[in-house]
Amino acid sequence: MTLVRSVSFRLLVLTLAMIAVLGLTVGVLRSVVQHETALDARETAQNQQRQHFDAVHRSLSSVRLLLSTVSSAALTRDAAAETRAQGALAEAQAQLDRQLDALAPVAPREIAAMRESMSGLPADLHVVVSELRAGRMPAAEQAAVAVRERIRVLEQKLADAEERGAGDYQALREHERAAAARGVRLAWISTVVTVLLSALLVLTVARSLLRPLRQVVAAVRKVSAGESGVVLPPRPPDEFTDIHVALQQFSDQAQRLRAIAYRDALTGLSNRARLEEALADGIIKCARNGQSMALMFMDLDNFKSVNESLGHSAGDRVLREAARRLGRLAPEGALVCRYSGDKFTIVLEGLKRDGTQQLHLRRLGETLLRGMAEPYQTGADFLFTTMSVGIAVYPMDGQTAEQIVSSADAAMYLAKRSGRNNVQFASPELTEDAKRKLTVVGEIRRGLVAGEFLPYYQPIVDVREGVVAGAEALIRWHHPQRGIVLPGEFIRVAEDSGLIGDLGDVCLTRAFDQALRWSDASSGIPISVNLSARQLHDRKLLATVEQLQSVRRLRPDLLQFEITESAMMERPDLSQLALQEIRGMGHKLGIDDFGTGYSSLGYLQRFQIDRIKIDRTFVERIGWSRQARAIVSATLALCKSLELEAVAEGVETRDQMDSLKELGCHLQQGYLFTPALPPEEFELWVRNRAAA
Ligand code: C2E
Ligand code: CA
Ligand code: CA
Repeated sequence: MTLVRSVSFRLLVLTLAMIAVLGLTVGVLRSVVQHETALDARETAQNQQRQHFDAVHRSLSSVRLLLSTVSSAALTRDAAAETRAQGALAEAQAQLDRQLDALAPVAPREIAAMRESMSGLPADLHVVVSELRAGRMPAAEQAAVAVRERIRVLEQKLADAEERGAGDYQALREHERAAAARGVRLAWISTVVTVLLSALLVLTVARSLLRPLRQVVAAVRKVSAGESGVVLPPRPPDEFTDIHVALQQFSDQAQRLRAIAYRDALTGLSNRARLEEALADGIIKCARNGQSMALMFMDLDNFKSVNESLGHSAGDRVLREAARRLGRLAPEGALVCRYSGDKFTIVLEGLKRDGTQQLHLRRLGETLLRGMAEPYQTGADFLFTTMSVGIAVYPMDGQTAEQIVSSADAAMYLAKRSGRNNVQFASPELTEDAKRKLTVVGEIRRGLVAGEFLPYYQPIVDVREGVVAGAEALIRWHHPQRGIVLPGEFIRVAEDSGLIGDLGDVCLTRAFDQALRWSDASSGIPISVNLSARQLHDRKLLATVEQLQSVRRLRPDLLQFEITESAMMERPDLSQLALQEIRGMGHKLGIDDFGTGYSSLGYLQRFQIDRIKIDRTFVERIGWSRQARAIVSATLALCKSLELEAVAEGVETRDQMDSLKELGCHLQQGYLFTPALPPEEFELWVRNRAAA
């Protein structure tokens, strides 16, 4: 910054200029005042001069009078009177002479002439007096003429002097009055000019300060509003430039921090924080311009298996590639974010609220599905993955960012449940469902901490001898308000929210302890524990089983597991691996709800199953449906040839029991015997049965 450009310098110049202008005006005014006082002084001097002239006139009259007095005394020969008059005359003459001194500077030539004329007066008077005394009247008269001539000259010259003095004054006064008027004019002009000049100066300086000040204020507003890239107009260097530079640095820094805070490190996409901000902004915009905003919520299908089978770095590559594809396929201006893990979002703003909207969104969703389904190359391998898309639209599916996300999430889960690799839209029912789920999730969490989840046990009876061959552990929720809640109300939510792991652990640990307690009595009662797909595919399960085994030292065949067909088929490879390990530890395995899924028979061998549980739906119809009967008998035949145990579930009537027995199914479970019971009641039931 150069000194000349600086604001302080400009202010200094302004101040100096004001001082100078003020000084000039004061000077001019002072000279006007001076002119006025000079005029006054001149007036006084003129008055004085006039008084001097009056005095001279008076003295001259005295002289003239005394001249005639002396003449009269001489004529009458009154010596005493003559002497007195002579004395008075000399005195009057002396006074006149003194008075002429004061007027000498005014009219030097006239005064000199007067003095000369006066100097000859005594001699001329003497002649007159002598002649009068001698009585020579004609001679006296002649001499008197000379005296009168001298008086005339005196009077003449006095008049001349007076005229000259007055004339000089007039000229001087004229001159001075003109000068004073000039001064006043000058004072006016200089005042007007200085006022104009200073106004101009103030304006230019103010302008040169105000404009950059406004720019700085605007820039500060932008920076504080978090607007990106505050670029300021180029300016010559001054204090404002310093502020600008500091602001720019601040804005850049804020920008960098924003970029870091809003960026997902793995994929380079925006992150969840950015999404939340964009949704909040979008809602405000939509409310203002009457448009809509859509949120597409995407989750890669079976991404976990990629991570588990190919490792995390392959998983990361898939995520990066997925992010790249979404970025490429998303329409211009859409915000693509990585929400978490394998979940992505796209925000579309500025949608018209009309009938074409849903179609447009569906098309886009399908384009994304196609793009995502293209094979991925990870190293030498090609990988196929799909995704499920849920779409929620503001304002229909939620009023807040949170509501829109949860609606889109619910729609995405619907897409998952509808077989994955498809697009679903949010709806009010879905949103309600999601809300309910959300409260249930919170409740499950609380219940887990409070120890409200306990397994009940339902016996598996060998109907040939009527003895208890085992028990199935079925979880129950002792809810403080709702009483006993059945798994149908919370297992699904626990699976979706990931809480199933903790819930499964509770059931598994309790069942382990129970099996251990029952193993003391006689040969023990084997307990079957249900596993959901999530648990089966989580390495934690195996660790827990291993740990329980090492501490409890339970005979492994006393603890068995049941997995539904569909759970097993979700990720067959992974399931096979997990099941192999469990079996390796000596635990038996059963396929639950057999016949309801779509597993091929080949899997039965591949999974090394020990038992099949014939689903309740077949047992229910066995009395009247030939088809059901045929399926059950075929299943039993298959079990026989593969050397598998068969258990019939949901046996409610004696007829059902007998029909199954007839077909060769001896292991049965159902309300006919008893529903699931708490352990003590189960023991009581067993004892009562043995006694009967
Ligand atoms: P599931 O494994 O098929 O269990 C059998 C279900 O049938 C149980 O329902 C049982 O009470 C019921 N049941 C038994 N006998 C009869 C009968 O004669 N008639 C009828 N209509 N039903 C009968 P529950 O206890 O409500 O459990 C439902 C499902 O919840 C279970 O189906 C199982 O898939 C799941 N589940 C239960 N406990 C657990 C658990 O600890 N972990 C996991 N992952 N799932 C569990
Ligand atoms: Ca079961
Ligand atoms: Ca079952």
